Amino acid sequence: MRGSNMDEDQQKKMLDEMVSKVIFNRAKSYAFDYADNVLDRTVFPTPEALQNLQYFTEDFPKSPGDALEILAQLHQYGSPATVSQTGGRYFGFVNGGVVPVALATRWLTDFWDQNAALHIISPVAAKLEEVCETWLKQLFGLSETFVAGFVSGSSTAIFAGLAAGRYRILQNQNWDVNRKGMNGAPEIRVVAGREAHGTVTKALALLGIGTDNVAWVDTDEQGRIIPALMPILDDRTIIVLQAGNVNSGAFDAIDEICNKANVANAWVHVDGAFGLWAAGSAQLRHLTGGIEKANSLSVDGHKTLNTPYDCGIVLCADKQALAQAMQASGSYITYGEHRDGMLYTPEMSRRARAVELWAVLKYLGRAGVDALVSGLHARALQMQDELKSAGFQILNDVVFNQIVICCESDAITQASLSAVQQSGECWMGGSVWRGRAVIRISICSWVTTANDVTRAVNALIKARAAVTSR
Ligand SMILES: *Cc1c(COP(=O)(O)O)cnc(C)c1O
Repeated sequence: MRGSNMDEDQQKKMLDEMVSKVIFNRAKSYAFDYADNVLDRTVFPTPEALQNLQYFTEDFPKSPGDALEILAQLHQYGSPATVSQTGGRYFGFVNGGVVPVALATRWLTDFWDQNAALHIISPVAAKLEEVCETWLKQLFGLSETFVAGFVSGSSTAIFAGLAAGRYRILQNQNWDVNRKGMNGAPEIRVVAGREAHGTVTKALALLGIGTDNVAWVDTDEQGRIIPALMPILDDRTIIVLQAGNVNSGAFDAIDEICNKANVANAWVHVDGAFGLWAAGSAQLRHLTGGIEKANSLSVDGHKTLNTPYDCGIVLCADKQALAQAMQASGSYITYGEHRDGMLYTPEMSRRARAVELWAVLKYLGRAGVDALVSGLHARALQMQDELKSAGFQILNDVVFNQIVICCESDAITQASLSAVQQSGECWMGGSVWRGRAVIRISICSWVTTANDVTRAVNALIKARAAVTSR
């Protein structure tokens, strides 16, 4: 109705919500209630909790609602239907917990609501991106020339790294891909291992390179590229290597392959989504040897480092190529006095995710990162030993945080897996490894204790016993 002050009333209500803090205190008490229960509850939601998700199905509200009711609904029906990922017995996919100070940082910075696109939009986001960039280069042992883009995850970071490679290779053939596109462009060949992550093929499709232009290299029993089977490399080749196979955790022979690629002037991208952090552990650093010779690298904060979602990083030795590829402009990029984050990312507006990354790096320091990464490896070795003693077959060398196991037959493996998932004691995922149904275990959270490992193994033993006695 014209002339009514409905909008003003709504604005007043929202101002009061902001000033009185009632809803924020309510959210805080729900969050603390969640945190108090998350270590003991079933790891996967109960059937009842899943059933209750139906309470979210309703017609789009016609008019504004009540903030406290919204929060109450979320906590009553949302919280129980979460996966207990911040507890110690979630071993699915390759996820990770959250370092407490990062979570607290997220709360604080949510009030800032910064847009990290440009220095002029958020000086603090620009400054902390710059600090993270420097620290990551030091941690990973990369040269000064590397720049970092802070993106939503490895999917985007891989896309960005490969886009930079595509830009540089075509530019070297006097082909400006930003203007001319891929129609009639000089051919690019990609060399990747058969075990490359699905996000690599996705990026290649998005970039108009296409998976038919990949020379797939056979891999060994750990999922590593067999270097002797690599084709001859040239300056129109992009090579995609893995620092951490998503099943086995295995690392390609990065140093050896980079040496050949550098001589041929080929572009090397290393997908190190969770494995690149091995470089932060004195004990495991050898796995990542040679990463400083790559042209681009991608890594997640939200996996091994335990930052909140969504935190991915692309690191590129060729600043110009990354900036040109991400801005997709035909003209020259002008660099300001300060860091403008959007030059290195596909997105323009972005949340200031580097602040949480900064908080974790500052909190842990070199020694803390080393302890975190080495600790995940130690828990993985413990789990391997206990599983082996219990008669499970270990199918990979546990070089990092991943364990691939199976039972006597695919059927028993799959039935044991679904029984253990249903037990609520822990959650591990299924996969296929070298033609067999397997259970894939990822130790990825700082919360996981030795006791959690033993409890999970016992749950798996019980699940298998129930299956085989049927
Ligand atoms: C998780 C993962 C990805 C994808 O990363 P997102 O952060 O989920 O986008 C790519 N490669 C590997 C090896 C991964 O483990």
